Amino acid sequence: MSAACQLIVSFHDLHPGSRAQCARFLAMMRELGVARTTLLVVPRWHGAPPCDEDREFAAWLRDRAVEGHEICLHAYLHRAEAVNGNALQRAMGKHYTAGEGEFYQIDEPEAERRLREGLRIVRDGCDVPVWGFTAPAWLLSDGGRRALVKLGFHYTTLWGQVELLQGGSKPEDDPEAAARIQASPRPTVGRHPDRLQAGSCTGPTRTIPAPVLVWSVRAAWRRVCSRGWVRLWGAGKRRAPVLRVAVHPVDFSYPSIEASVRAAIVRSLRGRVAACYRDLLPDGTAPLGGGA
Ligand SMILES: [Zn+2]
Repeated sequence: MSAACQLIVSFHDLHPGSRAQCARFLAMMRELGVARTTLLVVPRWHGAPPCDEDREFAAWLRDRAVEGHEICLHAYLHRAEAVNGNALQRAMGKHYTAGEGEFYQIDEPEAERRLREGLRIVRDGCDVPVWGFTAPAWLLSDGGRRALVKLGFHYTTLWGQVELLQGGSKPEDDPEAAARIQASPRPTVGRHPDRLQAGSCTGPTRTIPAPVLVWSVRAAWRRVCSRGWVRLWGAGKRRAPVLRVAVHPVDFSYPSIEASVRAAIVRSLRGRVAACYRDLLPDGTAPLGGGA
């Protein structure tokens, strides 16, 4: 395995109410020697006041960014009002995302509005640099994706891959790249992640295969299955150049899951360096808005 293989560990659903679990996660990372992680921040978790209004939280987040952790925008409310469409789509919305697929069916204008407001709260209000966006449960509509490209987001993360949205330059600077991005095939989300491994970091789609280890803890049977699945899936993907581990606050409510997270990271670190999503971008890529 090449020394350049990367492990991206991310903490999802960070907001003032989950800061304690994130601190616990970061303590575990320090213990394991993981100095760089990506923290996915929700601007207004389930409609709560904007997270930057909690000045203590904003200062804490800024300190994490200064330490070298990356801040990634994650949804706006992290709640979907309703899921429309056929039975499969409704089932996806209800069961797969537990009603939190905010960007699953969003149209472009609404996505743009929420993304702008999210940036105002997290990037400007908390004063931290932002490069990318992750939709809840990695479910992103075409309109949502167009809004991300338009606003200059550099990447989005999906189930099984990371998508570079700007090809190293802003779309207004490179209309050809923007057209390529618009025309690139859409990944689909399903229960068979192997189907999603198509794509290349050098191809026109600008996608980087990046399998992800994640736990599902909503029911006892899910927690048991998750532990086994993560072990098997991680073993099957041990040669992937980029491997990801996605941790959620609720994982720390179950000692067996917390232990499984720790073990998976220890195993995954063998032969890999810990990285952030921004490390996948061309060298020197500035954050959105050019601020630091
Ligand atoms: Zn989330």
